[in-house]
Amino acid sequence: MNNQEVLKKIRLLVGNSKVISDPEQLKNTDGLPNREYEKSFGINMTVPPMAIVFAENVDDVVKVLTFCNDNGINVIARGGGSAGEGLLEAREAGTLMLDCSKMNKLISFDQENMMATAQCGYSFDQLEKMANKNGLTTGHGPQSISLAQIGGLVATRSTGQFSTYYGGIEDMVCGLEAVMPDGRVIRIRNVPRRAAGPDLRHLFIGSEGAIAIITEVTVKLFPYYPNDMWLGGYIVDNIEIGFATIREIMVSGYKPSVLRLYDKSDMDYNFGSVKLKNEEAFMFFTAEGPSEIAQGTGAGIDRIALKNGGNYIGTKAVEHWLEHRNDLCQKIGSEANMKRHRETNVYYGTLEVSASWTDIVEIYHNVMARVPVKIENLVMLGGHVSHSYINGTNIYFVYRLRMNSPETAHDEMMELIKAICNEVIQYPTGGVVHHHGMGKERVIYAKQEHGSSYSLMEDLKKTFDPQNIMNRGTLIQVYDA
Ligand SMILES: Cc1cc2nc3c(=O)[nH]c(=O)nc-3n(C[C@H](O)[C@H](O)[C@H](O)COP(=O)(O)OP(=O)(O)OC[C@H]3O[C@@H](n4cnc5c(N)ncnc54)[C@H](O)[C@@H]3O)c2cc1C
Repeated sequence: MNNQEVLKKIRLLVGNSKVISDPEQLKNTDGLPNREYEKSFGINMTVPPMAIVFAENVDDVVKVLTFCNDNGINVIARGGGSAGEGLLEAREAGTLMLDCSKMNKLISFDQENMMATAQCGYSFDQLEKMANKNGLTTGHGPQSISLAQIGGLVATRSTGQFSTYYGGIEDMVCGLEAVMPDGRVIRIRNVPRRAAGPDLRHLFIGSEGAIAIITEVTVKLFPYYPNDMWLGGYIVDNIEIGFATIREIMVSGYKPSVLRLYDKSDMDYNFGSVKLKNEEAFMFFTAEGPSEIAQGTGAGIDRIALKNGGNYIGTKAVEHWLEHRNDLCQKIGSEANMKRHRETNVYYGTLEVSASWTDIVEIYHNVMARVPVKIENLVMLGGHVSHSYINGTNIYFVYRLRMNSPETAHDEMMELIKAICNEVIQYPTGGVVHHHGMGKERVIYAKQEHGSSYSLMEDLKKTFDPQNIMNRGTLIQVYDA
């Protein structure tokens, strides 16, 4: 069937008004931060989808998936479009984009049982604001909260800025509804906990649109005490002291809601309000919960930070971060950003990895020492920690690259990504993707990331998406990065 025939059928199935196939409107549909640099120069190296279908209900999703499954058509689900990593990128002609953002109803807000249920396209910002009005919080605060939708957040296994206290999305999802590629509608009921075999929620959390379309999600709600929040910022002599301090806080059993550690390069570029000397690092914390918990956690953090030589600098920098923490959302894709690319040829990007406490310090130092030697056009490289666990932490490497040309920008960025990931993956606990998803970029590391369990990922994909129509090339590599 050629594209025209496919579109004719799809229009008959869901209605003409839900399908866009005008080439002008199909440009730049692959996600806001995706290939931002090359787009600044009016260049688009990705393949536009043949059409976008705007699903308005589960029935539309069932019809589209069943048709695509029967005819081997690649389908990419889109929510808020805030993902990078090539997650929304079509790499082959004849791909259909299934936009789910019109499935945007709140279904229930259940304060008795502390759960909210919404359709996949519901804005997470809206949910958080509604929770706050009722003295509650979702506990999920990704920087992209103003852009992302509940289905996309689940599909990417996202994490938020307060994750050290509330957890990642995997700790919040109670149940969900999804449509499988063959059109089956399945529901995972909202049972508080079950020991009925493997947890099927995890088939969908982090599935990157490559297993099913998530149509509805139920998440937990938590009590919210913003006025009792404890804040504190400390400068330490070097990053090693910073790592040792945050480790001690976590392994002693404290659960700050925010725990962040910045090196000087990252601090200078992203956080002008605190000036560091050469080797110094900055760490800051917030603690949440009922007053006794927030203040008790704050007291413990303060004791450990001071004992390790931290120099307390008050709360101003933390307040500044809280106020401006999501500003990047306004900058991404903006004309100001595009203009800056054209004027400087410099692109700013990030890469989030994770490792145990033992491995993370070496990984940080190896990346900082070796990557600049390999990547000639690196203007800046730095990093910060933003999500910690009792057994380890993440690092967000931040970089600025002077691009040689918009046409080669993606390959240049991939060289840097590979240079960092190659340092990470050699460590027994090194993980090359902490919370953005693998997309079509970091999927080149899937075999190494999963090791001997990779064959299960292949089995999973074959079992649930035997025609390989769901976001082809994510989870399992199909294309070059
Ligand atoms: C400035 C900025 C800051 C960010 N900060 C964070 C952060 O703090 N934490 C974090 O985790 N991420 C962050 N991200 C990444 C991104 O916002 C997340 O990956 C987010 O979860 C994507 O949600 P979305 O609704 O925009 O999904 P999209 O970008 O539309 O899609 C993301 C992926 O999910 C799939 N998908 C979308 N909807 C569905 C559905 N209903 N069913 C099945 N699959 C679906 C898509 O096919 C795609 O593979 C940031 C991005 C930006 C631009």
